[in-house]
Amino acid sequence: MPLLELKDVSHTYGSHQVVDALSFSLDQGAIGCLLGPSGCGKTTILRAIAGFEHVTSGNICLNGVNVSSPASHVPAERRRIGMVFQDYALFPHLTVTDNIAFGIRGAPDMERRARVKELLATVGLGSQGGKYPHELSGGQQQRVALARALAPKPHLLLLDEPFSNLDVDLRERLSLEVRDILKQAGITAILVTHDQHEAFAVADEIGIMHEGRIQQWDEPYNLYHRPANRFVADFVGQGVFLVGDVLNAREVKIELGTLSGNIPTDCSIGCNACGMGCRVAVLLRPDDIVHDDASVTQAEVVAKAFRGAEFLYTLKLPSGVRVLSLVPSHHNHAIGEKIGIRLDVDHVVVFRSTEVESIPAA
Ligand code: ADP
Ligand code: MG
Repeated sequence: MPLLELKDVSHTYGSHQVVDALSFSLDQGAIGCLLGPSGCGKTTILRAIAGFEHVTSGNICLNGVNVSSPASHVPAERRRIGMVFQDYALFPHLTVTDNIAFGIRGAPDMERRARVKELLATVGLGSQGGKYPHELSGGQQQRVALARALAPKPHLLLLDEPFSNLDVDLRERLSLEVRDILKQAGITAILVTHDQHEAFAVADEIGIMHEGRIQQWDEPYNLYHRPANRFVADFVGQGVFLVGDVLNAREVKIELGTLSGNIPTDCSIGCNACGMGCRVAVLLRPDDIVHDDASVTQAEVVAKAFRGAEFLYTLKLPSGVRVLSLVPSHHNHAIGEKIGIRLDVDHVVVFRSTEVESIPAA
């Protein structure tokens, strides 16, 4: 039995439907993530799980107990769900110790003190208990907020864009730290974010959200290499779509050569055999195109971004179509220069011909 299960959950604000028949489940100890652009309904879903919003249809089960449906609603304080927010929401007039102890203020003194001490150590703030929030860095404050949410031993922890207020370096480090803390404590959690790096660093499973629906619920690897539709392919990672012609069920031809792999049989309109001539959209990631001086295929450098170990080159093919290529940074080529490239594609990602029309012009 999953620890959390949402079945066809919808939510409307007035007449505005923001969550649309959303379903997913999470096992005990797993970290799930809802990843999607701003406004797609992520916070609303978290608030519905926490019990701050009523569902318009569908239901939510926690440990097999129905906690939300249009007919019944277990109040938030009885769900044993912890929350961590973007803005930390610490009490400024309370010390770190008192902030963490806040959620267990009914517990006996000794027990409370022991729990706070344990949590301070867990989040790496052993010696900071006497400080006030304003005396701590943003990253430290967010660790206090995490400790405070964990204090009452919640069944489920919800994290709403918890790293958004931190600078990029710290965000990456803290997201890995938080994953370790949650895993060591065996906490089941849901992270909500619009940042795929955060999602990939923290979560075991990710649901890509768009307009109140989950487009694909999967492991990070599959979201990147086997996106279920164009929205997921666009949202996760970088890449461009090229027009392809299906040669047979295993091969598709694009401007840069022929790719082999499993071509989905629904690639064509009215041609179930996946025969010659079906037009498809082929996704090429920056790591699918490698720089090779020996290659006869040449492309012109039109833009470049230095990324330390690599350059991300934007290259113009002879047809004028642009592609992206990740190249080790000791290959420093000037804009306007022509460089040799070849395909190195492990996973062929192809979408239906009906979607080819929306390929942006180069
Ligand atoms: P996200 O967290 O993905 O950015 P939200 O769940 O906050 O998205 O919001 C989804 C949509 O619902 C947005 O269009 C937002 O403007 C709207 N919305 C959010 N909260 C309310 C509210 N309390 N009343 C009315 N509309 C709301
Ligand atoms: Mg939000």
